Amino acid sequence: MDIMTGLATASQAIKLANDLRGIDKAMDAAEFKLKIADLTIALSDIKMALSEAKEEISAKEAEITDLKARFKQTTELVEYEGYKYDKGADEKPRGAPYCQVCEQKSGLLIHLADFRNVQNCPSCNSKYSNVAFFGY
Ligand SMILES: [Zn+2]
Repeated sequence: MDIMTGLATASQAIKLANDLRGIDKAMDAAEFKLKIADLTIALSDIKMALSEAKEEISAKEAEITDLKARFKQTTELVEYEGYKYDKGADEKPRGAPYCQVCEQKSGLLIHLADFRNVQNCPSCNSKYSNVAFFGY
C-alpha cells in the first residue's frame, strides 16, 4: 500500500467513525458491529501504509547520506567562464565541464559530453554550445 492509498484509507476511516456517531447503538447493533469491523480493517491498513512509508523514508535517508558522502569525495573544482571543471595539480581546469542544470537542480556533478561539436548532458540532456573542454 502506498501513501496515497493510505491517505484514502484514512479518509474512509474518518467517515466510518463519523457514521458510528450517527448510529443509535441500541437500535442498530448489527450495523454498529459492521462499521466497527470496517473501521478496524481501515485502521490496520493505515498502520501498514505508515510503516511502509517509514521504511521508504529510511531508505531515502540512507540514499541521501550516501550521495552527500559521494558529493564530498569529488575532486576539487575550478571555475572557468562560468562552468565548473575538475582542478588539475596546476590549479587549471581539466577535462569536460559539469552540467549547470544538474548541479543547480539536484546538486549532481555530471560531465558534459562533446559529440561532433554538440555539447550535451548525458543525464538531463541539456544542450550547450561553445563550452571549453580541456585535456587531462
Ligand atoms: Zn544535466
